Amino acid sequence: MRDSSGVTPQDLGFTFEDLVQLAEKHRQIDEHHVTVGGRLCRALPIVEEANARVKEYVEKKDVEAPSGIELWEKIKENARRIKKALGMKEEDWNSFSGQLRFAINSLDELMKVVELPDAAYKDIREVTKHYRMRLTPYYASLIMPGKINDPILVQCVPTREMIDNAGIEIPPVAADHSPARLIDQFYPRVLTIKATNMCAMYCTHCLRIAHIGKKDRIYSREAYREALDYIKQDTLIRDVLITGGDAFILPNDMIRWLLGELDKIDHVRMKRLGTRIPVTSPMRVDEELLDILEESNDIKPLRVVTQVNTAQEITPVSREAFKQISKRVSAVMNQAVLLKGINDTRVKMWKLCETIHEAYIRPYYVFNCSFRNPQFSHLRVPVEVGQDIIESMYGNISGDAIPRYIATAGGKIPLHRTNVVRRENGNIILRKPWSGEEVAYPDADPEVYANDKYAFARYWK
Ligand code: SF4
Repeated sequence: MRDSSGVTPQDLGFTFEDLVQLAEKHRQIDEHHVTVGGRLCRALPIVEEANARVKEYVEKKDVEAPSGIELWEKIKENARRIKKALGMKEEDWNSFSGQLRFAINSLDELMKVVELPDAAYKDIREVTKHYRMRLTPYYASLIMPGKINDPILVQCVPTREMIDNAGIEIPPVAADHSPARLIDQFYPRVLTIKATNMCAMYCTHCLRIAHIGKKDRIYSREAYREALDYIKQDTLIRDVLITGGDAFILPNDMIRWLLGELDKIDHVRMKRLGTRIPVTSPMRVDEELLDILEESNDIKPLRVVTQVNTAQEITPVSREAFKQISKRVSAVMNQAVLLKGINDTRVKMWKLCETIHEAYIRPYYVFNCSFRNPQFSHLRVPVEVGQDIIESMYGNISGDAIPRYIATAGGKIPLHRTNVVRRENGNIILRKPWSGEEVAYPDADPEVYANDKYAFARYWK
């Protein structure tokens, strides 16, 4: 037996009898009109070709970009060493207050837990005169000893470049967009309440570096009332983000009160809380907080927006925290920052997005690291590198694990490439991001689109 393409059953690794059996099976089940020829000669080769596109990723992902789940045994070993070095008891480690009390704020404390060359310690002493350092012992346990530019270390320990680069800092964009106390507003229906300038950790790439970490501040209810009054009088406001700093640094009572006040405002229909604490100190996510989230989410949808930049930040503990949060809110979303050496390869970014996806978090944005703060220009990645990475995800990982790529420049501006190449004979020519192949896509007929007399409207004069 030989079909028109000249392929024999033997070429496909089947005997003639196998094929007869398969044909009979297909005749009986007839699901979706699948034919034996279609399955063997078309579908399987297409799957093979698709598999080849992810082969390198699958081979490299756990080596080039291991998650905190894969590194868990090493992290536990680090945790034992750090607890001993800082004199922490088990209950200190497992509580948020313990993590804050034993947070590493000085070079002397850092030297107890992270081994670095002497020249690096000398520079850190210098940099920390200008920029505040704080990392929780838990976050420090994610640093892999001996790994040069470990993606956790680079995010939390300030380096020499921060003073070498210190040029003219362009004021935060938000400085011109604060119509009321503690409010940032760029858009008509969405705004932000900056509820605190405190975080459990101070990130070396923080966009709000000018506000964050100089002096810890949680504001009074009076200050929050001014923000709430502004929201009340602007009936266009629909969606309010409470952030900081870090919203989860606020005491539970304050979070309950703020969400409650927002829930009372009729035109506020959605809320968001911005926090990186489930990553830097997942012990904070206690039952009381989860109950508060659920109560508010029951009234109007509440989302939690976080920042995970590397798969190494997802451990069994942070994954559990995100899982519990995801059960109580309408969505948990990630806003990563594209950072040199941390997530600037296909393997690292795909792995990040797949790992957070599996940790109940929806990859939402990837920000190109801002030009406004010269302190971290050494961590910036060219726009095109990010475009290549994000485009490479299409067709290769789950669609809802692909984030939007964004520049912040007086608002969020999408940086995606267009895959609409040109128009030809009424068709749109599209490019497949995963192969570069061009395909003709018949567009909607403009005349049909312009016709209002469609569906049931055609029956009315
Ligand atoms: S947690 Fe967010 S706000 Fe706080 S230092 Fe890090 S990036 Fe900045």
